[in-house]
Amino acid sequence: MMKTPFSSKVLSTFLIASLAFLHCAGATLNQQAKNMKYKLEPLEYANNALEPYIDADTIALHHGKHQAAYVDKLNAAIESDASFAPDLPLELLLADLQNVPEKIRTAVRNNGGGVWNHTFYWRTLSPDKSEMSNSLKKAVDETFGSPEEMWKKIVAAGVGHFGSGWVWLGVNANGELKICATANQDSPIMGNAISPCGIIPILTLDLWEHAYYLKYQNRRQEHLEKLWDIINWKRVSERYENALKTGKTSL
Ligand code: MN
Repeated sequence: MMKTPFSSKVLSTFLIASLAFLHCAGATLNQQAKNMKYKLEPLEYANNALEPYIDADTIALHHGKHQAAYVDKLNAAIESDASFAPDLPLELLLADLQNVPEKIRTAVRNNGGGVWNHTFYWRTLSPDKSEMSNSLKKAVDETFGSPEEMWKKIVAAGVGHFGSGWVWLGVNANGELKICATANQDSPIMGNAISPCGIIPILTLDLWEHAYYLKYQNRRQEHLEKLWDIINWKRVSERYENALKTGKTSL
């Protein structure tokens, strides 16, 4: 029979105490680090609130796994460079990627874009019906003929975009409405060097397959057409008016 230096009771007590200590130390460190980190913004509605247009499983994965992974990878990239400790809202970090150290710039672009674009997207959608403001409706009519015609053009731009990315509605430097698509997690807020859209975004739709594949499989067009019914027009109108007034993006 093997002899052990400790009785199993002593050993297990020691192990439990050690694990408890490590757990507490880890929690404290995580808490301190978290205060400096970019965070996953909670959704403004339940995972099933956008059904039947977007199913609860898709939202649970899309927000809780995909977007959460972008948050983690963004923070990991920033932490990997001790010389870089940005104390900036994410949109300002992304607006000035040239100031991000080159070795982490692509990671910040991809993952930071993934965080910001998704937050903007979730806040573009709502289970509550709302109307465009008079000024946005007027601009839509003048630019596209009608809201329905605008939606057809947004859907067409989304369907016509090859691969993953985003389709945007925004305001250009002349204050005009413009539709534009970006690749991957690129965003109009990254500036013209990365996104040639030249717009302050006011609405976005996610073109990545993870946004719709569970429910719509490969039917990107059908998915985009249906999102018409869950657009938060009140917020899009506020973003429009704020863009004209301040020249800035608002979430
Ligand atoms: Mn997505």
